[in-house]
Amino acid sequence: MFTDLVGDRAAEWDRTGRIPLDTLRGLGAKGLLCAQAPAAHGGLAFSSRRNGELTAHVGALCSSLRSVMTSQGMAAWTLRRLAGPGQQAALVPRLTGGELAAVAFSEAGAGSDLSALRTRITRDGDEVVVDGAKVWTTNAAYADLLVVFGRTEDGAGAVVVPVSAPGVRIERIEDPLGCRAAGHADIRLDGVRLPADALLQGVDRTPALLVTTALAYGRMSVAWGCTGILRGCLTAAARHAKAREQFGVRLADHQLVARHLAGLLVAEQSARRACEHASDLWDEGSPDMVTAAVLAKHVAATGAARGAARAVQVLASAGSRDGHTVARALRDAKLMEIIEGSSEICELMLAQHALATAG
Ligand code: FAD
Repeated sequence: MFTDLVGDRAAEWDRTGRIPLDTLRGLGAKGLLCAQAPAAHGGLAFSSRRNGELTAHVGALCSSLRSVMTSQGMAAWTLRRLAGPGQQAALVPRLTGGELAAVAFSEAGAGSDLSALRTRITRDGDEVVVDGAKVWTTNAAYADLLVVFGRTEDGAGAVVVPVSAPGVRIERIEDPLGCRAAGHADIRLDGVRLPADALLQGVDRTPALLVTTALAYGRMSVAWGCTGILRGCLTAAARHAKAREQFGVRLADHQLVARHLAGLLVAEQSARRACEHASDLWDEGSPDMVTAAVLAKHVAATGAARGAARAVQVLASAGSRDGHTVARALRDAKLMEIIEGSSEICELMLAQHALATAG
């Protein structure tokens, strides 16, 4: 269904920076944007592995749409982990029913260092008041609901904010490097008053620990999406290398070009295996899945950034137009090395794991 729906429109969405809202709502109402949500809440109850395969498929077609899926899935997962049963029953069906959600933790002064969050969530009788400013929130420009992380009196918490609430201002980022139609926006929250049950239960931990819950899903989703980027780049590069001749032979018969194809295959297969491993651990409920998700995200994002550059090299001028699959991939994949824990932050976490398990 995604293949027909996206068709050849990914380039147009990328150029205009917009995916039609009815397209997103239609996919959302079928539960496809957060397919791991439980059936009891209107979801498709996909395993992590099955949702991953779907995410890779969409990632090969359009990274902006895949980014929207990542945000919606991350919001649904955060509710599943941090909301009480009543909150879940009230909120998750909205996400499987066509409403759109974004997850906001980053701030101007708190990027990699989430301990620096300054947004305040203050209890005031039977209300909570939210004050702060978020940056670079994917899907926020399309969203009905925002899952906002901030400081509480007791530590940290997350609150569900309708974008229609007085005091919320969404400022779309019009010129992102890549994933241009993913609805990135900065958010102002000025004295936003909400009923007390907007604050998710099961909270009051450190900001970094709290956000890690959301990021675990985000990492898996981005990793699978990057596997899709690599698949799309490999297909485009291989087709071109077979079809075009220079110096009297196919490009594929020049060994230096063939090396790029081998590099793309190695990157795609390595990313896929790392994702499959992490998803299987996720589906088993293994605690090892936390590190496996970081590993998968790191392998897939770095592989996709390098792989996309290889694909552009193989297509050369044929892939050098704005909107071409490999040109989009080059811009989109670079951003995947920044989000859900940058490459450097992933390396630090993997090094800590290596040190802890060295004995
Ligand atoms: P900084 O933290 O300033 O880092 C700059 C550089 O320094 C990076 O290379 C980083 O790896 C490196 N660095 C920082 N600290 C260390 C260290 N200790 N050791 C080694 N290197 C270090 N945020 C949300 O809340 N929700 C979203 O949906 C969302 N979507 C995004 C989508 C896109 C396309 C982008 C670009 C960002 C998005 N973000 C989102 C924000 C994203 O989470 C941050 O950009 C990311 O955490 C990095 O923070 P920063 O950009 O402030 O970089």
